[in-house]
Amino acid sequence: MAGVKQGDWVVAAADQMIAEGKRRGPGTPLVCASGISPSGPIHLGNLREIMVPHFVADEIRRRGLECRHVLSWDDYDRLRKVPAGAPASFAEHIGRPLTAVPDPCGDHENWAEHFKVPFRTALAELGVEVTEISQTGMYTSGAYREQIIHAMRNRSRIDAVLGRYRTAKKAADAETEAETDEDEASDAAAGAGYYPYKPYCSVCGRDTTTVTSYDETTTRIGYGCQCGHTDGFELNRHDGGKLVWKVDWPMRWAFEGVTFEAGGVDHSSPGSSFTVGSRVVREIFDGQPPTYLGYSFVGSSGSAKMSGSAGGAPTPADALRIIEAPLLRWLYARRRPNQAITVAFDQEVNRLYDEWDALGRKIGTGGAEPGEIAVRARSVGSATRTLPTTERVLPFRTLASVVDITTGQDELTLRILRDITSEDPLDDLAQARPRLDRAQAWITGYVPAEERTRVRTAPDLERLGQLTEAEHESIKLLLDGLDAHWSPAGLTDLVYGVPKIQAGLSPDAAPTPELKTAQRAFFALLYTLLVGRDTGPRLPTLLLALGAERVRALLTAA
Ligand SMILES: [Zn+2]
Ligand SMILES: [Zn+2]
Repeated sequence: MAGVKQGDWVVAAADQMIAEGKRRGPGTPLVCASGISPSGPIHLGNLREIMVPHFVADEIRRRGLECRHVLSWDDYDRLRKVPAGAPASFAEHIGRPLTAVPDPCGDHENWAEHFKVPFRTALAELGVEVTEISQTGMYTSGAYREQIIHAMRNRSRIDAVLGRYRTAKKAADAETEAETDEDEASDAAAGAGYYPYKPYCSVCGRDTTTVTSYDETTTRIGYGCQCGHTDGFELNRHDGGKLVWKVDWPMRWAFEGVTFEAGGVDHSSPGSSFTVGSRVVREIFDGQPPTYLGYSFVGSSGSAKMSGSAGGAPTPADALRIIEAPLLRWLYARRRPNQAITVAFDQEVNRLYDEWDALGRKIGTGGAEPGEIAVRARSVGSATRTLPTTERVLPFRTLASVVDITTGQDELTLRILRDITSEDPLDDLAQARPRLDRAQAWITGYVPAEERTRVRTAPDLERLGQLTEAEHESIKLLLDGLDAHWSPAGLTDLVYGVPKIQAGLSPDAAPTPELKTAQRAFFALLYTLLVGRDTGPRLPTLLLALGAERVRALLTAA
């Protein structure tokens, strides 16, 4: 990859993964893996579990090599708790596999599917192609029988490997991943007889079971359940449980031949699942741990609660309603995985779009760094697909102001956008979409009422009656110049120019502190008279949006 800036994390991870494939032997397939437990809404933090391997797989594919990206749905995991927003009655399903818990809304096959469906839609919109694997499907079809029996046969060796990390883990574990609590339960049995496998009870369906016996010859496992049921079955004929997380994860590295995986930074600390798993896969499953990157936190700024999703952290679907897919990809691509990301739902979203547009212009004029070009290329699409873009790129903040003022009325929006693009007017609103729709969704879904623009319905006669001579003159200068300046650039000149004329300066006079003060005061006066507060959208946009007639009406005492 000549020309790619040193330190490009995607390039580095892809190089490392290819080297790992070569080390394992000729013909080793390249496999990126992601794993998500669909136990509740799948949020923007979980998306990083997909996006980090996605960019690595995509880089490999761009080099003309094949790379598989597996998304393991950990849907055979137990329901741990009822997430906020779901009926409390679901507490009775705690301990059952996520695919055995009923759908909370009634439209989906089960609990797991309810959370997978919107996430899957978001992945498609983001241009992410994965091969989905349902762990329920794998476990209940017996795909892992051989591995399970192997783990049971080697349970003392597994116990010994885990034992080396138990002390280290306890120290680090207070704040680490929830996945360990099933191991805690098994660990409690350590010494007395460790079993890396936990049956789901044949009567109550929960994993509140304790293995009581195992017969190596017949592979018969015996268990007792907290519900009072005791039972047993042959592991070589029956599939009714799963390996504990710290054995399950490395087993699957070997099973799928995973060569790259990413995990939350909490998986990467000493004694964490990854370090323990690396030993387990080598010593027990005769496999290799994947090359690995730990990723950091994804936060969000702004009133994510306004999104309409049932509380909790915002999801990719929430973000895609206000952020175009390439920009959302960019947020995940441009930062190294160990850096935290913030997805903006507040006014910062304007800046995100501005930065993205500025990068586009910089690349267009040939002034961009190779690293910037690479990251933008990763954002606008994948090796196999270019994502839809907005044909006519207008600043997001302009679109947001316009739909704020027009309250989304298409005809009025189009008229204003045509005025704004008067040099080459828009043909129709479709040319401004999908960005226009994102701006609309942001204004209506995330901008608090007190920050919305409410155009006055009648002139502010009280304020107009108190105008000073100078204020009166400034408004007259503005109104007299409106028609001749009816374009974004023209109105910009006009609103900045009025205070210059009043100060006896030429139109191209350099700004002085006094002039700036006068300009600010003039703008505040206009905002007060037009929208009833002292700030608002950019004045040229606001004036164009209102139309000359309405501006005159509001700035004149009838
Ligand atoms: Zn549902
Ligand atoms: Zn039971």
